[in-house]
Amino acid sequence: MLVVMQEGATETQTEAVIGRLVDMGFTVHRSTGVRHTLLGGVGPTDDFDPAALEVFDGVKECHRIISPYKLASRHFKPGGTIVKINSVEIGGPKVISMAGPCSIESVEQIEACARIVAGAGAQVIRGGAFKPRSSPYSFQGMGEEGLRILRSAADRHGLLVVSEVMDQVQIPLLIEYADILQVGARNMQNFNLLRELGHCRKPILLKRGIAATIEELLLSAEYIMSGGNYEVILCERGIRTFETSTRNTMDISAIPVLKRLTHLPVVADPSHGTGKRDYVLPMARAAVAAGADGLLVEVHPDPDRAISDGAQTLRPQQFTEMMQQTRAIATAIGRSA
Ligand code: PEP
Ligand code: MN
Repeated sequence: MLVVMQEGATETQTEAVIGRLVDMGFTVHRSTGVRHTLLGGVGPTDDFDPAALEVFDGVKECHRIISPYKLASRHFKPGGTIVKINSVEIGGPKVISMAGPCSIESVEQIEACARIVAGAGAQVIRGGAFKPRSSPYSFQGMGEEGLRILRSAADRHGLLVVSEVMDQVQIPLLIEYADILQVGARNMQNFNLLRELGHCRKPILLKRGIAATIEELLLSAEYIMSGGNYEVILCERGIRTFETSTRNTMDISAIPVLKRLTHLPVVADPSHGTGKRDYVLPMARAAVAAGADGLLVEVHPDPDRAISDGAQTLRPQQFTEMMQQTRAIATAIGRSA
């Protein structure tokens, strides 16, 4: 950790900061410059808040040098993590596609989706059986019956299943039917849920919270990993900003930042990232170009009649086009899809 004292900070102020650092267990290395005094703290202490020192008189700024997450850090596994499920490898050279409706609605809808998803060459079908809706009066999902429908269609079409788990009590059910358990944006900091998922032996797709920083996303991954489950796939799905033209602001730059900071695979969800189907294709292209290991998109045989998220859901033809275009981009950057 590095503390930069203000220009003109007094010796008493500097001594007070050094005293506090020593109390916290740091060994302090002092460098007295012409204008600023720098205090380098070396120590075993990970669990401190730099803001707690920034409020000391005479302190200009305080920076943590070592990241607060350990298992999720790129240093932990410099070569990168590949999450392997049957023959599908997420985080390897091949860009993986996960697609399906926002919500599981019926046998017919899921059968049509599975045909579209498998037909276009995607590997994973998505669909929510438990839906985190902003209003308690909106459709909340089909529950176990939905999961049964999704699993059966996936098996018939050779697809893997990803579906959202909203609560600890749903974990056994999700484990029975899904290959990947999704933690939605609203639950990214549901620490009890994350801890429980740390004890599971199923890959977790962890979505970035609506207003979460990249560091907070990585700390949430750390919660899961610290329980022993290292198979975490991160998902950029747009964040809330002052912009209103799109449902969320798709943070494409989060993809290369995450690829640098962590060894975990990173996928992108341009459906929730934009909220409008016409923007999904360009953002999917951008995500693959930026280094995403996979895409998660919403597709429906008749999106105008979808129970949830219809506006951002691709028509079958648009999905096929997206798969063709992102495959070409993957090839152009030395990957496959
Ligand atoms: C979803 O995938 O349908 C979903 C609810 O996503 P998010 O948690 O990113 O809003
Ligand atoms: Mn959705």
